[in-house]
Amino acid sequence: MALDAIRDQPRAVALLRRALATDRVAHAYAFVGPTGAGRMTTALAFAQALLCTGGREAGAVGGWPEPRREAGAPPCGRCQGCRLAAARVHPDLHLIAPTPPETNPKGARAIRIDAIRGLERQAALRPVMAPRKLFVLDEAERMTGEAPQAFLKTLEEPPAATVLILVLPRARALPATVISRCQVVRFEPRSAEAAVVARARARTLLAEVRAEGADLMFSRTERLDRETAEGLVDAYWLLCRDLVLAKAGAPALLLADAARAVELAREAEAWTLDELLQSIDLCRQARQALARNVAPRLTLEVILSRLALRAA
Ligand SMILES: [Zn+2]
Repeated sequence: MALDAIRDQPRAVALLRRALATDRVAHAYAFVGPTGAGRMTTALAFAQALLCTGGREAGAVGGWPEPRREAGAPPCGRCQGCRLAAARVHPDLHLIAPTPPETNPKGARAIRIDAIRGLERQAALRPVMAPRKLFVLDEAERMTGEAPQAFLKTLEEPPAATVLILVLPRARALPATVISRCQVVRFEPRSAEAAVVARARARTLLAEVRAEGADLMFSRTERLDRETAEGLVDAYWLLCRDLVLAKAGAPALLLADAARAVELAREAEAWTLDELLQSIDLCRQARQALARNVAPRLTLEVILSRLALRAA
C-alpha cells in the first residue's frame, strides 16, 4: 500500500511525505497512537517509499544502487525493491516484534536485549540492495530489561544509512531519553464512524456464517482487502473483550457496544472465560499476521472458524 492510500491519518502522512519530498528523513521515528490506527501499515508504506529504487537496477553495475529517482517521488510499485518491500521480504527491511521467552512459548512477550543486539549488528552492515536499511519495531513499548538502554546507544550514534521506526501506543511508554531522539509522528484513533461500520459488518458476517456454515464463510472472505480485514479483526477483538466484560457482570457503560449489553450478556453465557481469552489472543495474532502480510482471507477464516463455527 502506498502512503497516498492511507486516508484517515492526513497529518502523519503529510509529515512523512514532506520528509521524503525534501529528502530530510530522520534517523529515527516514533509512530505513536492506538492499536488499529494504521501505524504499521503506514510504517510499511513509508519503508517502501524509502526502499524503492525506481527502475535503477538496470543501470547498477558493481556497487549498490544509488537512488536516482527524484526525492519524494512516490514508490514506483514495480521495481524489485518495491515488490520485495510489499511482500515484507526485502533484505533491507527488518521487522522486530515482541516474542515469548525461548524456554516458555506461553510466557510474556517482550523485545529483549538479544533482539536489540541483533539490530545493532545488522545496522552496522551496509544495505544489501537499497540505499538504506529500515528497522521497524512493533510494540516497541515491550522493550524490557536492558533493551531500552541498549537501543538508546544505537540512537545516540545512529548507524549510517539506517532508519529506525518505533511503533507504540503512548510516547510515555518508553523512557523520555529514547523518545526525545525520535521524530514523533502522531496517529489519531480511527474515526468512531468507521469503527461503528466495521462492528456492524463484523456482526452481520458472524451471524451469516453461524447460520449457513463454512461454505458461506469461504465465499464471504474471498475478496477481502487488507484494510477491511483489519477493521473486522479489530471489531471481533472488541466483541470478545465486551463478552469478557459482560461475563464478569461489568456495567454496560464499560462495553464498547453498550447498546447491545443485554444481547452480549446472553451470548457470554455460551462461552467460558478461557475460550474468550483464547479468542482475544487469536485476534491479536491475526492482527500481527496481517502486518506480516498473511492473506486477509486466511486471517479472517481462522477467527470466524473460532467465533462462528467454534472450530479453531
Ligand atoms: Zn519501486
